[in-house]
Amino acid sequence: MTAPTESFAPRREEPIFGRLAIIGIGLIGSSIAHAAKDLNLAGRIVLSDRDEGVRARARELDLGHEVAETVQAAVSGADLVILCVPVGACGAVAGEIASALKPGAIVSDVGSVKNAVVEAVAPHLPVGVHFVPAHPVAGTENSGPDAGFASLFLNRWCILTPPDGSDDGAVSRTRHFWEGTGALVEEMSAQHHDLVLAVTSHLPHLIAYNIVGTAEDLEAVTQSEVIKFSAGGFRDFTRIAASDPTMWRDVFLHNKEAVLEMLGRFSEDLSVLTRAIRFGDGETLHKHFTRTRAIRRGIVALGQEKPETEKLRKT
Ligand code: NAP
Repeated sequence: MTAPTESFAPRREEPIFGRLAIIGIGLIGSSIAHAAKDLNLAGRIVLSDRDEGVRARARELDLGHEVAETVQAAVSGADLVILCVPVGACGAVAGEIASALKPGAIVSDVGSVKNAVVEAVAPHLPVGVHFVPAHPVAGTENSGPDAGFASLFLNRWCILTPPDGSDDGAVSRTRHFWEGTGALVEEMSAQHHDLVLAVTSHLPHLIAYNIVGTAEDLEAVTQSEVIKFSAGGFRDFTRIAASDPTMWRDVFLHNKEAVLEMLGRFSEDLSVLTRAIRFGDGETLHKHFTRTRAIRRGIVALGQEKPETEKLRKT
């Protein structure tokens, strides 16, 4: 599948921020750079990454206006700094950039877990620097600077989790930035975010990683059969299970409590279905599948996913 390159959100006449710094040039960092440049969300866009090869590739791709050699140089003079590194690296990066941040700057992130990121980043930030954590709920299974595209965030949710006492102006400017990418913005507490995402994103990824591993381990099913008959639901799992291993390792290590809570509930519900199959209880199975079908239709109705028939027409 080739990623769409065009963006559909309107280009702004005046940028929202003077200087934007993006630390970590992967799928999310490069997508923000594309969107911010195409849509004029920042006057100057500077990127940096710890990997020399990634920085070189970002220059070749002409991402942003400049690729800085160090994270300190990237954030120097920046009005908005977005940490686009794995969740487990956010605290260390905050420590590295702290002394180079200008007073009044906004530091944000895109981590898929919020509570652990807030705890790791906030202690490093100097007084007078605002922290507005964010999570764009948008992604693909691809990683690296080549994976990004400007329309990644279009019509997708971006959740802001400003800590109590956050500066209203900083929160509102961060909200405008994300709205500028075409995202829909909602605010909630970091704790609530982590619980919601545990069930909507983290648990499904764990199930996908598990089921794809199980299929591979089955001695009765040869490798070729797994691939040959993969259309039967398995193919969707393989796409999710191809997601970045570092990113997902960090998600599970840093949202442990909420994931374990959801995993407990999931196991209980699975026991009910297991029992229904064992005892031939078709009514329980039918009732359950009818309920879940309604959830899928609700997601399509909210515009967060296309019906399968429409997807097939497009490919
Ligand atoms: P990615 O494509 O793997 O890119 C991450 C980049 O950050 C890599 O180039 C990595 O370099 C670099 N990096 C790691 N540690 C660093 C450090 N200490 N200093 C500077 N750069 C560093 O990852 P991604 O998918 O863009 O994810 C980035 C963040 O977005 C994660 O926090 C993730 O939870 C969040 N997010 C991801 C998705 C998604 O679907 N992918 C969706 C929403 C939010 P190395 O390769 O050398 O490690």
